[in-house]
Amino acid sequence: MTVFHNLGFPRIGKQRELKKAVEAYWNQELSQEALQQEGARLRQAHWQLQHEAGVKWVPVGDFAWYDHILEWTTTLGVVPARFQHPVGSSVDLDTLFRMARGRAPQGQPAAACEMTKWFDTNYHYIVPELEANQSFYLARESLFDQVAEAQQAGFEVKPVIPGPLTWLWLSKGDSFSEGAGDVAKLQLLPALLTVYIEILERLAAQGVEWVQVDEPALVLDLPPAWLQAYATAYEQLAQSPVKLLVATYFESIAHHIDTVKQLPVAGWHIDIVRAPQQLNAVVEALGADQVLSVGAIDGRNIWRSDLDALSRQLQVVRAQLGSRLWIAPSCSLLHVPVDVSSETGLDEELKSWLSFAVQKLEELRLLIALLEGTVSDADQKYLLAQRSALQSRAHSARTHNPELRAKLKKIDQISRTRTPFAERIHVQRKHLNLPAFPTTTIGSFPQTKEIRQLRRDWREGNVSDAAYEKAIQAEIERVIRFQEEIGIDVLVHGEAERNDMVEYFGELLAGFAFTQNGWVQSYGSRCVKPPIIFGDVLRPAPMTVAWSAYAQSLTTLPVKGMLTGPVTMLQWSFVRDDQPRKETCQQLALALRDEVLDLEAAGIQVIQIDEPAIREGLPLRRADWEAYLQWAVDCFRLSTSGVKDSTQIHTHMCYSEFNDIMQAIAAMDADVITIETSRSNMELLEAFEDFHYPNDIGPGVYDIHSPNIPQQEWMVSLMQKAAQKLPAERLWVNPDCGLKTRGWPETQAALLEMVAAARYLRQHL
Ligand code: GLN
Ligand code: ZN
Repeated sequence: MTVFHNLGFPRIGKQRELKKAVEAYWNQELSQEALQQEGARLRQAHWQLQHEAGVKWVPVGDFAWYDHILEWTTTLGVVPARFQHPVGSSVDLDTLFRMARGRAPQGQPAAACEMTKWFDTNYHYIVPELEANQSFYLARESLFDQVAEAQQAGFEVKPVIPGPLTWLWLSKGDSFSEGAGDVAKLQLLPALLTVYIEILERLAAQGVEWVQVDEPALVLDLPPAWLQAYATAYEQLAQSPVKLLVATYFESIAHHIDTVKQLPVAGWHIDIVRAPQQLNAVVEALGADQVLSVGAIDGRNIWRSDLDALSRQLQVVRAQLGSRLWIAPSCSLLHVPVDVSSETGLDEELKSWLSFAVQKLEELRLLIALLEGTVSDADQKYLLAQRSALQSRAHSARTHNPELRAKLKKIDQISRTRTPFAERIHVQRKHLNLPAFPTTTIGSFPQTKEIRQLRRDWREGNVSDAAYEKAIQAEIERVIRFQEEIGIDVLVHGEAERNDMVEYFGELLAGFAFTQNGWVQSYGSRCVKPPIIFGDVLRPAPMTVAWSAYAQSLTTLPVKGMLTGPVTMLQWSFVRDDQPRKETCQQLALALRDEVLDLEAAGIQVIQIDEPAIREGLPLRRADWEAYLQWAVDCFRLSTSGVKDSTQIHTHMCYSEFNDIMQAIAAMDADVITIETSRSNMELLEAFEDFHYPNDIGPGVYDIHSPNIPQQEWMVSLMQKAAQKLPAERLWVNPDCGLKTRGWPETQAALLEMVAAARYLRQHL
């Protein structure tokens, strides 16, 4: 019998119950006991649901109060000294929360640990912080308690834990400066493994047979010392009395197949959604007793699968492996929303194409029924419905618009080149009449309660279109007058009409859909509802022209048009999987190109296209970077290259590292790029300096995440630093990012200082 199991389930709850409980606890509106109860209730509900869906063991260890890596870090007794945790004693919940967010109901506040993206997902984990001689000890009982909890409720369990090498790879520390792969970290491995062995023995004593050890780091390009460490570590762990299933996902492990062959573990999990090509190689490498768990259903996206095709593909593997074949989602279901049936606002056709966590488990069960030839009558009905949904998706005019398809065929004929920057910049500066060190902002101005309320009222139909338009226009006028008064050179309209930089455009483009409850955990208690790009992207009408043109009509100074770039829209959405991402990105780029040209025709002389997500779209393996960057840059150029020489194109990126991708950044050929640099003291500019970046650049001079007012002198000194790295005539003066989270008084004070800094620079530099 093919085994059906799951790698992990969304912990947050269908209605974001965990978020609500945790936040109430932080606000001291809920006791710790009540929080614990709510956690237990959610775990129980999720186990029950998975059990009913037919999974053989319920996963235990996928639950987390904030982040599962942080759960593990604290279990290993790794608490940075600033949290004043007595080494050797058990770590309590408030210490965990203080590590995550700096404060908790109990204990001294301290600087929170760093948070970063989990591989190429939008999930953020808390980065483990290590000391040079870090010691490890078993500091929490929660995993064992949860195993017992599930067993008492009558479930068979499979604990899920982060693997030692992935955990170590993702950790950092002041003594480890060489990045994730610093071999010095490997010196900690023996001590770390001692605690792992202890944990595995404890689990065995609880009657656990299998433990899933997540090692997604194994899909990366790893230095030889790390591959060697995999071999030695698992040699040791395999001595423990439980069976280990090493789980890999997000990419292939075929490039490390020699290491894979060496590990004496009881089984492997691989992701054949993201990396189908590895299947044969791994099957061949498998030892006679090892099981193979095939991640066949996409844990990263929300589409229904072609179960017939999958079952045909896996039939061969089943014949080879018999009962050593296991089936699972490609990765933990953490990255998808819980249940499509909670959606009441989507049309039936679209809904029939979607599969969230609950549906994915159903799909897996059916896939196994197909493989085993045990399809029941009820299953048969479900399968027929699924087939017809796939048919409708494949042939719908919503996914294949003939007009757009014809246009896409000729996409190569559209020129992506502009007059060389060195020539066009003179035309622009003269035309725009800009001083040295021109000042600008990144787009949004404070989003007051009143503005948010106004948008809500309008959406709910409590405010008429005309009244809404008038109110937004009044806000635009306020923002324009304010910028004129304080002396900004290139103005913005303030983005009062936007709640979110992707959602705003998605709602105006055909091919996008929005869920009501499609929440996915982003970090801690924060969840996002990514838009769904389900079909061909078309722009039925201009999206920003009226607002921008109105803003421009109020002033003789240039007002920037403000758009979100194609790569960022792609990156922050669930993207259709029936064509390459590149093609969806091209569709977005074409829609934006039309918007850019309409803005220009309406008299907008400066247009900014935000691309904060270019870097995070980088593939996990270096070998794939170039192809990605090529189409990402091409799409940006497709959007922007239709304009006249005198029209100035800006782009904006925040919280990016630019090392390694400077070639691509330069190839985007934006006239001006604004970036976030103040928090790094202009360090991020070094990449631009080393590259001799040729175009204009606005290094952010103050952190918009802080309510503190930046002083003129300090901003001048930052700009002087910048001017040592790049030619002064290429520099702009602007904040790090948009101002929407700030209040008016501090925005006013900060921008006044910023303008004063620019004036000082004009005279003294
Ligand atoms: N134009 C957007 C704003 O100012 C940019 C936001 C971002 O970079 N994330 O809010
Ligand atoms: Zn930004």
